[in-house]
Amino acid sequence: MKPCKKCGKTIDPKITKNDTCPECGKKYPYFLSFIEEGYVGVNDVVFGRVKIYTNLKPEDYAIDELRFVFAETDKNRKEFYEFREKWDFKDVTEKEFEAIKLELKKRFNEPLKN
Ligand SMILES: [Zn+2]
Repeated sequence: MKPCKKCGKTIDPKITKNDTCPECGKKYPYFLSFIEEGYVGVNDVVFGRVKIYTNLKPEDYAIDELRFVFAETDKNRKEFYEFREKWDFKDVTEKEFEAIKLELKKRFNEPLKN
């Protein structure tokens, strides 16, 4: 037995292996983890992925991922840092998840320019 990380209610491991109880899993279906990637010789571009985990099923692996890529400027770095701080390692609702997807696409998905 362990406590739900959202509400503290005791979770029976026979019901779910997740860190949230089934009720909180329904309320916050996704958990996000940002991963920045880097390649040798690529210095002016920031890119990586947001791994998406589900709180609805006892899956240990990411069920999906979102990509991000943007030119490395002080302004972009700062804006991305704030965005990441807000959502990294967070459980999110369906509504928040949809907004995050849109924001990531709109603000941090610039096509690469040569
Ligand atoms: Zn709970």
